Amino acid sequence: MSKTIIISNRLPVQLQISDGGLTAIPSVGGLATGMKSVHSGGESLWIGWSGLTDEETPPELEADIDKALEQHACAKVNLTEKEMEGFYFGFSNRTVWPLFHYFLEYSEFELEFWNTYKAVNQKFADAIIEKSNEGDTIWVHDYQLMLVPQMVREKRPNTSIGFFLHIPFPSYEIFRTLPWREEVLEGLLGSDLIGFHTYDYERHFLSSVRRLLGLEVSFNDIYLDNRVIKVDSFPMGIDYKKFKDAAIAHEQITKENRTDFQKKLDSHKASAPDTKLILSIDRLDYSKGIAKRINAFEYFLNKYPEYKEKVRLIILAVPSRSNVPQYKLLKKEIDELVGRINGELSSVNWTPIWYFYRSLPFENLIDLYTSSDIAWLTPLRDGMNLVAKEYVATRTDKTGVLILSEMAGSANEMNEALLINPNNFEQQADTLKRAITMPKEEQMARNMFLQNRLERYNVEVWANEFMGALNRKSEDNYTFV
Ligand code: UDP
Repeated sequence: MSKTIIISNRLPVQLQISDGGLTAIPSVGGLATGMKSVHSGGESLWIGWSGLTDEETPPELEADIDKALEQHACAKVNLTEKEMEGFYFGFSNRTVWPLFHYFLEYSEFELEFWNTYKAVNQKFADAIIEKSNEGDTIWVHDYQLMLVPQMVREKRPNTSIGFFLHIPFPSYEIFRTLPWREEVLEGLLGSDLIGFHTYDYERHFLSSVRRLLGLEVSFNDIYLDNRVIKVDSFPMGIDYKKFKDAAIAHEQITKENRTDFQKKLDSHKASAPDTKLILSIDRLDYSKGIAKRINAFEYFLNKYPEYKEKVRLIILAVPSRSNVPQYKLLKKEIDELVGRINGELSSVNWTPIWYFYRSLPFENLIDLYTSSDIAWLTPLRDGMNLVAKEYVATRTDKTGVLILSEMAGSANEMNEALLINPNNFEQQADTLKRAITMPKEEQMARNMFLQNRLERYNVEVWANEFMGALNRKSEDNYTFV
């Protein structure tokens, strides 16, 4: 029987080794949820790194780990610390990530990183070839594995291969600076179907293929040798029901039974009922525009001083890639900015910014989403931005205002949000004022459209549409032959 094979850098399972032995806990992230309908029953296998390097894996547990993963229909690719350094922290996160997010000056073009990236992509491809048969369907995920489609294609010429990029694909003028640009494109073109979040990313990719490889492109089809490769956009959704249901359940919890976190939020709200809570949640990443947002908030308070003590900005910054130098510098910059602004503007009753540098459990995320009057998300570049969608999904009474950067992929589908350019402080100050004073009816009208769209195009629909397009593509190939 043919299988579906999913490949991503990380497996959707967390391994924990303790005195009590080994446990494998399934992840609850967006991708894992979306793939549920694809990764189900005995007909699929998910291949990826387990989260433990070879050095961290006790040899006596090797067989147990394989067995535990097998129970979740997963198989691991082993990686050494050195491979992780060059492949993940190196090429993926110090070359591709900054370049594809238009941070050209942060992008490091190190031959050593590239060589390790190639070798590790080959390891993933070898694992696929070992564990798959001709006739299986393969879905490769994201920027860490862009060479895998071609590497698999060489050994499995008739297998159906899909690739989805979860980050932006930059314009040709940016992409062309990569020393290994042709190899990356050729790697991706091993696929039958290449998916992006938005039409713009798709367009940028097609333009690079045309200009760098000189291939014939017609609409969204690329002609390569005797193959036709389809390119399309599939904007990723969220598990809408999970967020909506959690928000409904949250409403029904009696005051005494709320989380400690919510009780603190409640007591602040009770002591300052006119103060609006403005929320931002992001990984601490330079692409998210956190420092600029803090500066824009200061600008707003100076432009409209009547809102001092009437608004509070909550920043939840989730630690990320903290061994990459730029992330360390950014953390320092944000710590200092928050310290300076709070130091200069706080009063006895009011601290303008609440800053949390940690990741919060799901129930506290719901506390924040449901308690905040405004979500203010200002990425300088973002492939999609799911936080924007999650905030809207939790607004059970349809109130709440989303202010979203037009540089986020999700802005394409969220026209009813207040869209801003994160570099324009004047516009952001005025938009904050507009959000604070927006009548409830207008908030509700906007969120009604947004919620309907999010509910319809949820993450499961996203996964099924991609798989459907891939299956149709392989039927076409078959007919063509
Ligand atoms: N998130 C989380 N823990 C936190 C804060 C956020 O798991 O403490 C989740 C959030 O719910 C969202 C994801 O992290 O699903 C962030 O996704 P997004 O697309 O906004 O940004 P990314 O981090 O993928 O660039």
